[in-house]
Amino acid sequence: MIYTCLNPDCRFMFDLPGHVENCPDCGSDQLRPATRAEREEFDRFQEELKLEEQEKKENPDSATHIA
Ligand SMILES: [Zn+2]
Repeated sequence: MIYTCLNPDCRFMFDLPGHVENCPDCGSDQLRPATRAEREEFDRFQEELKLEEQEKKENPDSATHIA
């Protein structure tokens, strides 16, 4: 189940099985199930993370950011 934290300072979105009462990030109990649009955004974000991980593995040098 994907949840969205309603704490305006947090807005964390996370995917955990079963019933979750508190945000794992800020501890708030102001949670609601993510809407369809939010779930799609979440899936896209996960895909992007996966792609980034793959790119890092393929090009280890590109993962280094020069400040
Ligand atoms: Zn939160």
